[in-house]
Amino acid sequence: MLPPPSNKLIAHLDMNSYFASVEQQANPFLRGKPIGVCAYLHKNGCVIAASIEAKRLGMKVGMTVTEAKCKVPSAEFVENDPPKYRAVTSRVFSILHELTDCVEHYSIDEAFLDLTGWYRDAAEAAWALARVRRRIKSEVGEWLRCSIGIAPTRFLAKTASDFEKPEGLTVIDRDNLDEILSQLDLEDVCGIGPRIRQRLERAGIMTLMELKLYPVANLIRLFGKYGFYLWCKVNGMECEKVLSPQYLVRSPQPKSIGHSYCVPERVNRDGKVVAVLTRLTERAGRRMRREGLLAGRVSVAVNVLRPGSYVLGQGMRPSMRPTQDPGPRTQDFYSDFLHFSEPASDSFTLVGTACSLLQKIWHGERVNFLAVTLSDFSTPSLQKILPLKIRGTEGGYEINRRRLISDAVDLVRDRYGDEAIMFGSMMGISHEAPDRIGFRKTDGVDISKI
Ligand SMILES: [Mg+2]
Repeated sequence: MLPPPSNKLIAHLDMNSYFASVEQQANPFLRGKPIGVCAYLHKNGCVIAASIEAKRLGMKVGMTVTEAKCKVPSAEFVENDPPKYRAVTSRVFSILHELTDCVEHYSIDEAFLDLTGWYRDAAEAAWALARVRRRIKSEVGEWLRCSIGIAPTRFLAKTASDFEKPEGLTVIDRDNLDEILSQLDLEDVCGIGPRIRQRLERAGIMTLMELKLYPVANLIRLFGKYGFYLWCKVNGMECEKVLSPQYLVRSPQPKSIGHSYCVPERVNRDGKVVAVLTRLTERAGRRMRREGLLAGRVSVAVNVLRPGSYVLGQGMRPSMRPTQDPGPRTQDFYSDFLHFSEPASDSFTLVGTACSLLQKIWHGERVNFLAVTLSDFSTPSLQKILPLKIRGTEGGYEINRRRLISDAVDLVRDRYGDEAIMFGSMMGISHEAPDRIGFRKTDGVDISKI
């Protein structure tokens, strides 16, 4: 049975050229200029966001810095700064939460809002969201730009916000749905890529309007369940809900938590391999403690380069490898692990174990890859560990002390940043193994702190 046409009021807000706009907001000297935000400031680093000015000149997300410089010689490049973007997202989302109780943090720069019952109609919702945009500009940053879409379904709200960039406000309703769909290409909507397009065209569907009017039974025969959802989406029927964090089912316990890093040559030169492993282990441990888990196993992996081998640069593709072979090269991958007799979560145990595992498999050679993984998770027992000092054993006293110190250090870092307190061995590597940000990840975006 077909679902009824949706009579909901859904909005989608999409920040445009987000990372680049935040950088321009933070640094007035970058405003109005073509800039690219990169994963690394290296010729092979990848552009993860381009400012609106850079996009106009042809810079695209995914280009390497070298390609982007070729395309836009006047462009400036900055390295990404995840804590800055999370802080701005928290402030933007906190404004959205004033509109409705149902806000889905879809990604670092996008949110869906279910406004059903909060506003009478799309016109009233449009008025409220135009006000939100003014508030973002006045309270968060005048350089931030967002496009807004309002429609009866999530899919159409996203289509509406994509309709006019960078600062449009588009309403899709029953009356203008056909008009909007006829102005769009098949691939303009979320969920249709080149491969689906090919299959649709083979079935004689060249436009979104043809897809809308296509017999649903035939689409199901061609695409299965996906065909049904596609047809419902373009016909304004709701098949997805706005998932506000308070309604989300908690994701299942992770099986492992780890971090890895492609070690550049300078780390070998400066003798900071152990320091980088300490940082990776600290980060993994902190994520695990945030989940409220204890690790039963620590494993470490390293890729060792033997004399004569070359060091692969970050993001270096096989085609970019030196054509002149520098001599016989060997790369050896080693790994080792340790099972704890008593699961642990404190930094001292985790870092100490990871470092002693590394010393077993690495003897000072050059390395180009390091990884640490925590696994075999368990949840802490509710049984209280008595803080007794037993002579000759570590006993509960030592375990308790280490755990309390780790928890206190986490609190300090939550408040003052990752660099506020650290192991002495990690000094001087602040730019190595930096924090990374994923577009679909909203970890660390916390509206409760605003
Ligand atoms: Mg965006």
